[in-house]
Amino acid sequence: MAQVIERLMMDHDLGLVLLAGAICVVGAIATMNLSVRVRGGRRKALRLVFVAFCAGATVWSTHFVAMLAYLTNVPMTYELGLTTLSFVAGTVLIGIGFGVAIHGQGGRSAGLLGGAILGAGVVVLHYVGMAAVRLPGILSYQPALAVVSVAVSLGLGSLALGGMFGRHPGGAKSVGILLMVGMILSLHFTAMGAANVVHGVALGGATNGISRAGLAIAVAVVSLLILAFGLAGAILDKKFSHRRATEADRFRTLADGAFEGLVVHRAGTILDANAAARHLFGPSDTLAGASVRGWFEETDQAGADRFLAGAGDETLEVELRGSEGTSFPAEVSRRRILASDGAEAELLAIRDLTSRKESEARIVHLALHDPLTDLPNRRFFLEMAEKAISEVYRTGDRVAFLTVGMDNFKAINDIHGHSAGDALLRATGERIRATLRDGDFCARMGGDEFAILQTRVTSVTETLALAGRLLDALRDPVRLPGGDVAASGSIGAAFFPEDGHRMDGLLRNALTAMHRAKADGKATLRFFEADMDAALVGRRILESGLGRALSEGRFFLEYQPIVESRGRKAVAFEALVRWRDPELGLVTPAEFVPIAEETGLIVPIGEFVVREAIRAAASWPESLRVAINLSAVQFRQRGLVAVVRQALEEYGVPGHRVELEVTETLLVENRQAAVRTLRELKGLGMRISMDDFGTGYSSLSYLQSFPFDKIKIDQSFVADLAQNDQNAAIVRAILALGKSLRMKVVAEGVETMQQADLLEDFGCDELQGFLLARPMAASEIASYLARQEPARPTLVAVSAA
Ligand code: C2E
Ligand code: CA
Ligand code: CA
Repeated sequence: MAQVIERLMMDHDLGLVLLAGAICVVGAIATMNLSVRVRGGRRKALRLVFVAFCAGATVWSTHFVAMLAYLTNVPMTYELGLTTLSFVAGTVLIGIGFGVAIHGQGGRSAGLLGGAILGAGVVVLHYVGMAAVRLPGILSYQPALAVVSVAVSLGLGSLALGGMFGRHPGGAKSVGILLMVGMILSLHFTAMGAANVVHGVALGGATNGISRAGLAIAVAVVSLLILAFGLAGAILDKKFSHRRATEADRFRTLADGAFEGLVVHRAGTILDANAAARHLFGPSDTLAGASVRGWFEETDQAGADRFLAGAGDETLEVELRGSEGTSFPAEVSRRRILASDGAEAELLAIRDLTSRKESEARIVHLALHDPLTDLPNRRFFLEMAEKAISEVYRTGDRVAFLTVGMDNFKAINDIHGHSAGDALLRATGERIRATLRDGDFCARMGGDEFAILQTRVTSVTETLALAGRLLDALRDPVRLPGGDVAASGSIGAAFFPEDGHRMDGLLRNALTAMHRAKADGKATLRFFEADMDAALVGRRILESGLGRALSEGRFFLEYQPIVESRGRKAVAFEALVRWRDPELGLVTPAEFVPIAEETGLIVPIGEFVVREAIRAAASWPESLRVAINLSAVQFRQRGLVAVVRQALEEYGVPGHRVELEVTETLLVENRQAAVRTLRELKGLGMRISMDDFGTGYSSLSYLQSFPFDKIKIDQSFVADLAQNDQNAAIVRAILALGKSLRMKVVAEGVETMQQADLLEDFGCDELQGFLLARPMAASEIASYLARQEPARPTLVAVSAA
């Protein structure tokens, strides 16, 4: 080293040495500035050539200015071929060196290798350039020092490019520049220190050599070129860094616009976060430097650590704690990236799953609940029931299945409209829900049917208590926008395991019991019994056949005479509907009318009866009336009066030839509307009879609420009239009542002469019954009337019986 410095001081012109150093520094700056742009640029190869050229020119002119500074008293020339070769070969090697480093950017060894090649290029440039020197003397090298010069060049080159493009780029361009300057200068002067010139031996000037002056000019030109490169590099650098800033801005905008929270962290420590992440976890000043671990719930810490420590892309669904301490479901994805400081970091993308989870929950809720009442639906009920049953196998308790059917839903729906029906269902659902205890489960099964699952039943009394609460709750009038309506429900119950082992069977049995409860007067509870089944199956068959029967025209009428008690001559015929089914045979109205009333089919069936009966009456003698039974359900229909009026007009039958038979139930519900309709009908000239009088409600007030023309004493009083004094008393009372109200009284179900005579004695106006005639086909009426003419009706009754 001392030798090198000594040589430097002794053999060199200091001014020119400083100039060489300046050229070297400027060139290194220009080179490195250009080189960092190669990695970001598109036209990589062209930029690489520029870098190589700039670096080559730097080394070359540094070398030659330093040579100018060397041994100024020795006349030196340069051999042109070798001089050119030194530049070209050196530049190519330097280019390769940069190329390797830049191409393998980020790798462990590419920077080091590329740097070594760069160093080799500098070595070649120097030593080949030295070989071109022609001077009066012999040039030789001290081998040790020469080796040192080569090693230093390769080493510093490696450090320079390794630092700038290696695995852990420090971003240290300035360090790279310093190392490059150090490399060039130390090589040159160490190599020069290794050189020995033995003076006096004439080697002869080069024939086509470059003179000192020529060299000076060449160096000046190349130096200017380097300066130009440096300047261009600086300008580009500025533009580039501006572009980088705007690009960074753009990325920031983009990141902030992202819906996902984006967070860059290194080993758990937060470096950067976008707007969405700040929204989730708090403002940047609390985020920067904090740990992402704090976001994970304590219970998830182990999983969080595993996730954060993992390599490669991965996604995790976890509960995270937000800025307000509330936790939310999130999906976290992880990816390795290069952070803005150039070092590796990890990007976390955090998606808040709250709304997705909410909509998932909503979908599940919708799938398992009835939208109208928000009660669980049939599917949910069956799931819960299966679960309850499987539990019973362990505990040995019982499970009760209760089905609740509303008693008057159809009627309310018909009279008040669908929105009232919906309100009724909602109110019922709420009432049922309110009566349940822990462990009970209720659902709307469809229509006006609800079901309840009572688990852990140890005694039937528990089910009785629940049913009692339910019946009470359902009996309260329901408040509807149009006013209060009376409501009630019937309940059927079946037990697991006694009444079935399978869900469908149990549910069907509970339904059977519920229908039995309805048949037994409604608003009550029935437990399932095995023999209920048959009746119910029959009912189901009727239900499904009834609708078809209407469209297939399977209904027809029979007529039963009503006679004067005195002369026993027919004054009217009561129309009685019949259903003849190809499979079921003849079905009586007692069987199907109640079902038709429940399903609403009584309305079209009743319309058929009205038209058919009036059409038949048109062909009878003028003196004979036709009696038509009307169900209360038909009165809920607006069109009833119009239907009757139209039939009268169409068949030319005057109103006074028609009697309409109604029962008290008509007046029990919605009396005012019923009375209005009755008035309209009466206004058409028709008579109105109170049918089945004495049964049911039998409240005098019903009789007084409308001026009926006739009272029909129910056949149950007539049946044992002769044997039962109490019934005889009732019949006489009814007769007295009719007299005082100026209503005709007729007795039905007269089967014996004794009954007929008694009734006649009591003062009953008219009689009807098998004794007088059974219901007959329309076609039989003419011969019946003919036979009746002078003959006593009793004979007819005998022949008909
Ligand atoms: P209801 O209006 O009381 O009709 C009288 C019922 O008693 C008829 O039964 C008739 O056949 C029967 N009957 C007549 N005389 C005697 C007798 O001496 N002894 C006995 N044991 N029974 C007798 P039916 O035809 O089976 O009708 C049953 C009920 O069905 C009727 O009772 C009525 O409430 C209803 N119904 C019949 N036809 C119609 C109709 O067209 N519309 C409506 N809404 N209901 C009808
Ligand atoms: Ca009747
Ligand atoms: Ca009757």
